[in-house]
Amino acid sequence: MSEGKLKPTSSTPLVPCADILPAPLEDRNADTILRTSDGIDIRVYRAVLSLTSNVFSQMFQRAQAAGEAEIPVIPVQESAPILVRLFSLFYPGMVPVVLTGLEPIREIFDVAFLKYEMLSLARSSKRDLRARIHASPVAVYALACRYAWKDVAAEAAKASLSLSLHEFDSAPPAGLQYTTADSYHALLQYFHECRTAAKRATDSLEWLAWSPKLPWFNCSEAPNVCPNSAETWDLADYLEAQMTQWFIAYLKSAGEALWDRPGARLDTAELLDGPIKAMSGCPMCSRTGFKELIKFARETLPEKVAEEVDAVCGAPAWIVQIHPGLTCFYAD
Ligand SMILES: [Zn+2]
Repeated sequence: MSEGKLKPTSSTPLVPCADILPAPLEDRNADTILRTSDGIDIRVYRAVLSLTSNVFSQMFQRAQAAGEAEIPVIPVQESAPILVRLFSLFYPGMVPVVLTGLEPIREIFDVAFLKYEMLSLARSSKRDLRARIHASPVAVYALACRYAWKDVAAEAAKASLSLSLHEFDSAPPAGLQYTTADSYHALLQYFHECRTAAKRATDSLEWLAWSPKLPWFNCSEAPNVCPNSAETWDLADYLEAQMTQWFIAYLKSAGEALWDRPGARLDTAELLDGPIKAMSGCPMCSRTGFKELIKFARETLPEKVAEEVDAVCGAPAWIVQIHPGLTCFYAD
């Protein structure tokens, strides 16, 4: 079999690969040849692969025990483009191939972690996956579950709170094929727990201290100018108060936004325009109402929502459900 020319196959529709093997994989002094599924001979040093993978180490030991030639030729199931990309991540003298897109990442990670158990690559691989969390949180969650990386899965699950489940009414999220129904259900359960916790921050204000600075507690204009709520709301420190209706309207809209997306921004024009327009008709509220409402929407309420959501994240129950029986055995 001639060596050297690398012919990409139809089974490896990945990023363009060099059309010849990188020099380190053509080293004439190497002690082993890996014959790929597409018929390419890759020359490697057994010690390098053995240090990275126990599976390769055992494979070489079996070849030696079988009395192979001085330079054993070991057939492998992977194509040359796959192994070049994989080896580029750790082989001396090779420049790491940049993996673009989640499918190429999945293809290489499957070989690295599910087949050859290259645990030492977990740290850099997790970093690659984390870089994609905000662009594709559900897909990253799915892949993190696939490799039992619970820390990455938890981060991706939290990032998914900025999505609306309605986005998946017509089409499933990208990457769903990488994980199990159990793992996806755990994500949905987490989403539901988070939106319940987040909305609680607007349904009850028992966490909010009364203050003379907050105009929604202290407006004394006539009801036809600035109507108050009919009911009283319980506040922190066992206090209770009536509030202006424009503030209650904001709370209601914010609660609906959090139910849709527990990670939603709470200072959008969509949420603020109506209450601001209503308060502008009140001489008292319009003095400080805009400033205080913006502060509430950008700081006070988001901090309370984050506290509630973090309490859900802190509960390990849903994370354990990712892979019952599987522990996170890769290094952080
Ligand atoms: Zn008022």
